[in-house]
Amino acid sequence: MKLIHFQTINHQKRIGIIENQWIYDLRDLLTLWTQQKDKPLLPCSTWDDFFQTRSYSNFQTLREAFELKSYVQPYEMNQIQILAPISSRSKIIAVGRNYASHARELGNVAPSEPFYFAKLPSSVIAHQETIRLPKESHRVDHEGELAVVIGKKLNRHSTKDDVLNSIFGYTIVNDVTARDLQKSASEKGLPWTRAKNYDTFCPLGPIVVTADSFQPQNKRIRVTVNGEERQNGNTRDFIFDIPFLLYFISRHITLECGDLLLTGTPEGVSPLQDGDVVSVEIEAIGTLTNFVKAENEE
Ligand code: ZN
Repeated sequence: MKLIHFQTINHQKRIGIIENQWIYDLRDLLTLWTQQKDKPLLPCSTWDDFFQTRSYSNFQTLREAFELKSYVQPYEMNQIQILAPISSRSKIIAVGRNYASHARELGNVAPSEPFYFAKLPSSVIAHQETIRLPKESHRVDHEGELAVVIGKKLNRHSTKDDVLNSIFGYTIVNDVTARDLQKSASEKGLPWTRAKNYDTFCPLGPIVVTADSFQPQNKRIRVTVNGEERQNGNTRDFIFDIPFLLYFISRHITLECGDLLLTGTPEGVSPLQDGDVVSVEIEAIGTLTNFVKAENEE
């Protein structure tokens, strides 16, 4: 199933299930489903509600609710505004150097164990929103990546089997990075927090494909800038696979429903310029497109 977080013309936040370009409001579907099953209706409009009410976010419930789609009036794509698939409580953990080719292009060796950093939710923007180039950076790069949406809490007591059942779905991210600021921070032994977290530096979406209908192995990932190919990689070249990353990270940090794991970028990162259009495309998910605008010099 393909899910989308969106806003209606009346500014109502909703989740939809997409089929053939039609968007079925999950709240309408679940209202019918709870009536049919004689169950109480829990809040289910927003991404926050959805991950708090676990009974709704399991795949069986979603499939059963979607079978009632003929009773629901769907939206067309041009009737909605796409929101990023993130809740107000989500945290974002990003893995660095998970493709040997990208580690090499930046002069780094492939790591012997995963290393990771945080992207802040304030940096997130949706599909077709604008990445802003800060004037104090002279090189801001795209990093196209596969993102994992967590559907079950993981912590240091979770087993490897728990990890396999913890993934809700997959989406696309552009881990935008002020490369010059990252490099100067690294040279001084300082963290990358600023280089990775300017507002607008985390385009995310446009949809989430649920884990029951997507295999993350062997998926092509491409980045184009103004239609010209810049990155062309494949998730089969991951140094650490997704279950290993989730197991490793959850030894240190509890991962909650709705949290995101960014799985690293393949080689080909390159700078973005004012006026560019950057797209990250992942096979069997779709394309995340954003505009680029330089902050005005004063
Ligand atoms: Zn990255």
